[in-house]
Amino acid sequence: MEKTTYNLHTHTKRCNHAEGEDREYVEAAIAAGIEVLGFSDHCPQFFPNTDYYSYFRMRPDLAQEYAESVRALQKEYAADIKILLGFETEYYPGTFDALMEFVRPLHLDYMIMGQHFIADEHDENKYYDAFGNRGEVYLEHYVKQVKEGLDKGVFTYLAHPDNVYFHGPEHVYRKQMVSLCEFAKERNIPLEFNMLGYVNHRNYPDERFWKIAASVGNRAVIGYDAHLPKALLRGDVFDECQAVLNRYGIQTMNFEEIVLRNEKL
Ligand SMILES: [Zn+2]
Ligand SMILES: [Zn+2]
Repeated sequence: MEKTTYNLHTHTKRCNHAEGEDREYVEAAIAAGIEVLGFSDHCPQFFPNTDYYSYFRMRPDLAQEYAESVRALQKEYAADIKILLGFETEYYPGTFDALMEFVRPLHLDYMIMGQHFIADEHDENKYYDAFGNRGEVYLEHYVKQVKEGLDKGVFTYLAHPDNVYFHGPEHVYRKQMVSLCEFAKERNIPLEFNMLGYVNHRNYPDERFWKIAASVGNRAVIGYDAHLPKALLRGDVFDECQAVLNRYGIQTMNFEEIVLRNEKL
């Protein structure tokens, strides 16, 4: 039987660094033969100091309209594609409860965790460390925070687990990432192989990481991380990513195997 083709990592223009109409993403996905399309735009974050605004994600006042737009498209295109409503979010211990309270009335289908920073972002300089100068303490903090977030039981998968910069000793990286991979595996949480990072030759997907994940036996999900509708047309890149994972000996999840973990949403 043919596998269901799916992508659960799609942004919208509401995050200020993606482009195109929601409908264009849906139509591109259909044209590409994607059968399940999940919208997971950057979730608003709720910082206690109101003068801090992170411009690279959706403002809270746009969330309702986002949800309505995705739900309307879900109905309209029901015969052609299955559409899911979600968010990609950071896990910030200090503000996560507020975030959950905010998203609950939206009745999301899922959330994915994408940890771009550590601590609570707004009150720390730690996250804005010069690239490449992030040492062991930073890596350790990242892993600890990601585990704590995953333990909330609300995340479908962990997006780009390997986006953390670390140029220190291999054994330090290995120790931390083995521990992260084992933690995710025990909870049956897949790890995302990020296509945007792959296409743009970012520091992730990181070969070091995926070799570790292979040895631990994690399962992967390939995420387009689409910030443009046309990114969804890159089935060729998807196939390349699949080939890379095959080479590492990592199994990808079929859509039917994915646990959305939306009971608490
Ligand atoms: Zn983004
Ligand atoms: Zn993303």
